[in-house]
Amino acid sequence: MLKGKTALVTGSTSGIGLGIAKALARQGANIVLNGFGDVDTPRAEVLAAGKDAGAQVAYHGADMSRVADIEDMMKYSASQFGRVDILVNNAGIQHVANVEDFPVEKWDAVIAINLSSAFHASRLALPAMKAANWGRIINVASVHGLVGSAQKAAYVAAKHGIVGLTKVTALENATTGVTCNAICPGWVLTPLVQKQVDAKAAEHGLSNEDAKKLLLGEKEPSMQFTTPEELGELAVFFCSPAANNVRGVAWNMDGGWAAQ
Ligand code: NAD
Repeated sequence: MLKGKTALVTGSTSGIGLGIAKALARQGANIVLNGFGDVDTPRAEVLAAGKDAGAQVAYHGADMSRVADIEDMMKYSASQFGRVDILVNNAGIQHVANVEDFPVEKWDAVIAINLSSAFHASRLALPAMKAANWGRIINVASVHGLVGSAQKAAYVAAKHGIVGLTKVTALENATTGVTCNAICPGWVLTPLVQKQVDAKAAEHGLSNEDAKKLLLGEKEPSMQFTTPEELGELAVFFCSPAANNVRGVAWNMDGGWAAQ
């Protein structure tokens, strides 16, 4: 379905971004990976996922907190594959503390990586999308873009912000072939969440399995983690012709979290 298209997925060396990159590659999209840590393993996984569909894979190590890096990544993506047709703004970090204890540099980092990076990548991707009259911007927000939780001030502020950015981007392009939508996952068992499971296990003296149950039980009625594969399929849907008129939604996949 996406053969000949190029998808840039930020923060795709791990977790949800990697799941979305694999799902888009399976549909034939060429993929530009981004993120820190081991690159060879995720690159091999995305290549394997896209093998039958002939997808190619490139990588740029932009630090999404740095505007100059983002500009360089956008130029690199265009030089590799012509242009970015699908932009998935996914890179994100978490920090947990009460507002009065929240380290200022952590606030700045969360806002830069989880929110401002999506603005910069979107503003740089939009001209080519509009010229082609086709584009998809998918912002990975969170259920925390819809509701709050204590001790997550920067994260909740950034995620509510990215839901707002999604609506404005969708509206400004509503008469074009460029759509913008947000995905709002509940708990997904990635390294970002495993750290919170570890903290619960340490705090309450629990096993890993019991700490997972405690975490889910506090928020997620289904008592199940959403998976990167499920989120990847939602991203594929947003890229499909059936989603041509889906514009500015914040679509939760959260096991009923926000329904409460
Ligand atoms: P993860 O830690 O598994 O992956 C994060 C990715 O972002 C990694 O590839 C990492 O290298 C990259 N990254 C971090 N800082 C970066 C930076 N400065 N520049 C470039 N890349 C950077 O986390 P995840 O759980 O897969 O999270 C992905 C997105 O999904 C985040 O925006 C997160 O807020 C969101 N999300 C996660 C959950 C969850 O339960 N895991 C729920 C809702 C939303």
